[in-house]
Amino acid sequence: MKVLVINCGSSSLKYQLINPESGEVFAIGLCDRIGIHGSKLEFEVPAIDFEIEIEKDMETHKEALEMVIAALTNEEYGVIKTVEEVDAIGHRLVHGGEDFSSSILIDEEVMAAVEANNGLAPLHNPANLMGVRTCMALMPGKPNVGVFDTAFHQTMPAKAYMYALPYADYKDLKVRKYGFHGTSHKFVSTTASEIMGNPEKSKIIVCHLGNGASVSAVKDGECVDTSMGLTPVAGLMMGTRCGDVDPGALIYIKNKRELTDKELDTRINKESGILGIFEKSSDCRDLEIAREKGDERAQLAIDMMTYRIRAYIASYAAAMGGVDMICFTGGIGENSSLIRSESLKGLEFMGVELDQEVNGVRKKGNVKLSKESSKVAIYKIPTNEELVIARDTLEIVNG
Ligand code: ADP
Repeated sequence: MKVLVINCGSSSLKYQLINPESGEVFAIGLCDRIGIHGSKLEFEVPAIDFEIEIEKDMETHKEALEMVIAALTNEEYGVIKTVEEVDAIGHRLVHGGEDFSSSILIDEEVMAAVEANNGLAPLHNPANLMGVRTCMALMPGKPNVGVFDTAFHQTMPAKAYMYALPYADYKDLKVRKYGFHGTSHKFVSTTASEIMGNPEKSKIIVCHLGNGASVSAVKDGECVDTSMGLTPVAGLMMGTRCGDVDPGALIYIKNKRELTDKELDTRINKESGILGIFEKSSDCRDLEIAREKGDERAQLAIDMMTYRIRAYIASYAAAMGGVDMICFTGGIGENSSLIRSESLKGLEFMGVELDQEVNGVRKKGNVKLSKESSKVAIYKIPTNEELVIARDTLEIVNG
């Protein structure tokens, strides 16, 4: 079985050809700067350590996917003879609103329902749908499955997802918390449960810390709360996103600086977070290097970031009446021993004891980071969103 996993952004197309049963990745890569001058295709075959970059203007996603198919079927370095070998296509779809609580076989009706949620993710949903339409046109007859970022969080109770705004805003405009990174939270919490021996009852907190970052509380296999909201700008302090902030502050800044809606949107999504405080970079590695050199702003950004992670962990433990395992994933969660250790500082009162020595050593795969005496297990669990998409696709195609 071979599933082509597609993650289509407004000017990019990421892809992987995966065996959903074994997890083997036959090929992986991305098309960048689609519709912008200087676009290029990156193509990699991990099994033979082969990598190639092809620079060629791609006007639209159609040209991009054509290049992906040409690379996949290339006589010299391709991994399949024809696209007929692709059994199904799995798409990352960002916002399913309240309409989708699981993955689904995509047809016209599904596409119309996703389109109806475009207003909730104006940058992502139209791009995702373009990816689906392009695949349908270039690989007719193949099943296309949609896997939503929001689906895993649809189990949240109303007390967690409602905002205390006029109820009409929920009823008329669907304004509520949806949450994102759902495939990652699902994958990591499922892996955590497997590590625990799949108990019937479990309380897991997943910290997905990458450029975008979110925490979720997963009780007995179901998400009960998560830190992102109607949009992915809420919750933790991120690379360039502000996370939680007093909404009154935004109105004040908008008025004082005479910003348009678009400028305010750019400010909270692209100019805030680590970048906003540190000012030199949005990258956590740069931040850590600067902190070591005594940069006070870098220290402040790290303190702010980890204080908020810690506060979310404690509040989700309170929400679930305890916690069995805390998991770290994403580029920062998997790699930064400093952020993990700072985030857990002060949580000893609830039985969290990090093994500093193990935490400081870089090791691949799932790694237990807590001391034997710790009441709460702490793990680093590398996420694999593409594998979740491929597996969901397989499950749905097999009915
Ligand atoms: P995205 O949300 O774009 O998928 P990633 O999950 O790839 O992001 O995470 C990117 C972040 O991970 C960056 O801030 C990067 O600095 C950070 N990161 C990667 N490796 C390390 C490392 N060794 N130490 C600290 N941070 C790291």
